[in-house]
Amino acid sequence: MNELPTSMRASVLRAVGDIAVEDRLVPEPGPHEVLVRVSAVGTCGSDTHYYEHGRVGGFVVREPLILGHEASGTVVARGSEVTGHAPGTRVSLEPGVPCGSCHECRSGRYNLCPDVRFFATPPIDGAFCEYVTLHEQFAYPVPEDMSDEAAALVEPLSVAVWACRKARVSPGSRVLVTGAGPVGLLAAQTARAFGATEVVTTDVSEHRLRMAAELAAADTIDVGERGLTESGYEPDVLLECSGNTKAGAEAVGTLARAGRGVFVGLGGDELPIPLAHVQTREIELTGTFRYANTWPSAIALAASGAVELDRLVTHRFGLDRVPEALTASARDETAVKSVVRPQE
Ligand SMILES: [Zn+2]
Ligand SMILES: [Zn+2]
Repeated sequence: MNELPTSMRASVLRAVGDIAVEDRLVPEPGPHEVLVRVSAVGTCGSDTHYYEHGRVGGFVVREPLILGHEASGTVVARGSEVTGHAPGTRVSLEPGVPCGSCHECRSGRYNLCPDVRFFATPPIDGAFCEYVTLHEQFAYPVPEDMSDEAAALVEPLSVAVWACRKARVSPGSRVLVTGAGPVGLLAAQTARAFGATEVVTTDVSEHRLRMAAELAAADTIDVGERGLTESGYEPDVLLECSGNTKAGAEAVGTLARAGRGVFVGLGGDELPIPLAHVQTREIELTGTFRYANTWPSAIALAASGAVELDRLVTHRFGLDRVPEALTASARDETAVKSVVRPQE
């Protein structure tokens, strides 16, 4: 592997609103790690939030941080104990490596591990750079015909898979997805793949609603024009992907008896719950935090064509244009998913 460089370019968040390309050492893989040349990295709302506010909830950026956690790449070197993952293997990266020994990990809920090392979450660097190291078990080989960008977007697809599992979406489910951003579009498609026979998506963007209709054969409601309650729709499952408090509260109030509401979208706000509705209908409400054990399913859903990932990608940027990538959707209504290509 003597053709590997010793230094690389990395896009570094140095302070709120200040991202610049810096030279960093190419990391050395630990015994159980692989070194991955990064091909594509999706941008996520949390990256934008770190860039604009320096924090997401209780996670605060105190030192320079490399953002980006939706990544794919090619294995170029292996630690001493790694036996699989021949160099040249294309992989999708699960960006959080849990401790493996705490109560949550041992209970199978490793997404709740308090000691997880998660890309682009202070103080752990992310993937807006040319090379990253990762534990071999969290680098998943992808099929030959899956694009680098689709392999990166297995991460947000995992969010959707986890949400559908938590909501117990099953054949015949009627599913309401509030918010048709990238995660909402993936949640709608995944619900379909899980057997939902009705999928309704709400948003205020005509463009995004059209995508939901095309990608997930979803019925759509433009809640800028018509209230959700007035639609009379009564779903079994709510997948709240807008992060909008008002949308979330109204949507809970539409859930059918024994319905399940899952809060996926980021939202630090408080939500007034229609408690009588929740009680008399035995509604279950839960949040989701990332995902656990989703990569194999997510890769299979994308590889089979049941979920379309490539069509979400609307904008592409090199490493030197990360700030533009992070703010594209605020400037351009037609921007759905921006991808950073560190090798370009
Ligand atoms: Zn994300
Ligand atoms: Zn743990």
